[in-house]
Amino acid sequence: MIRDFTFDIYEKLVAEGLDTGYEHITMREYLSSGNLPEKFIIHRHDVDRKPENSLTMAQLEAEYGISSTYYFRTIDKTFQPEMIREIEELGHEVGYHYEDMDRADGNVAKAHESFREELARLRKYATVDTVCMHGNPLTAYDNRDMWEAGCGFDKYGLLGEAYLSMDFTDVTYFSDTGRTWKDGELKVKDNPVGESEKYVQVDGTDELVELVKSDKLSKLCLLSHPNRWARSPSEYVIEFSKDTMTNVGKRGLNLMRGQM
Ligand SMILES: [Zn+2]
Repeated sequence: MIRDFTFDIYEKLVAEGLDTGYEHITMREYLSSGNLPEKFIIHRHDVDRKPENSLTMAQLEAEYGISSTYYFRTIDKTFQPEMIREIEELGHEVGYHYEDMDRADGNVAKAHESFREELARLRKYATVDTVCMHGNPLTAYDNRDMWEAGCGFDKYGLLGEAYLSMDFTDVTYFSDTGRTWKDGELKVKDNPVGESEKYVQVDGTDELVELVKSDKLSKLCLLSHPNRWARSPSEYVIEFSKDTMTNVGKRGLNLMRGQM
């Protein structure tokens, strides 16, 4: 079996992106620039656990001179002020990976209260202009549901939200959720709103690298979870097993929900 989701393969993805002439922009740049490059890649990272992997990834990207966006959950294990600062100092954007509907058990007013507090906590250590929902396949809520139509991000001084504010008919989205870049039943909540029919699918990262090299798509948003990516063979085995177990669980959930 070929090992996927290693830092070596990630490095290849970054290098080929640069070689093919893509500019690498952050979510902040995407949402605030009136003049976007013709060809770009947004690397979006959700810091769900193991924040040390995010730092390694951030350092690797900085070596290549690119900036990406790291969305931090504010749970104890990922809320690491030093690391948050360091990642921002490497030239990356830090955002809030919110899960306040889960925290407030679906109560929208309470979710906003919690959102306000957590955002303020994170803003002590980084400039936060964009946010992104955390999708927990095991909870009944979709964290995006705290926003009304029209959203109201400006009331928090935010430019937008990674799922709700991106035009997915223009930017093609791929994510590593479920340990595949292919869309399907493993992306329980990781689905952009208003996504158009995607005419390209890739499974492994090698295929994604080939797609980048082919220059077929001019605008890409690639979500990767640094915790999934292995720095060593033993970490590979651990993460591979974790994802396999989670996927078994998701397939079970989908069966119960009649989605398969
Ligand atoms: Zn997440």
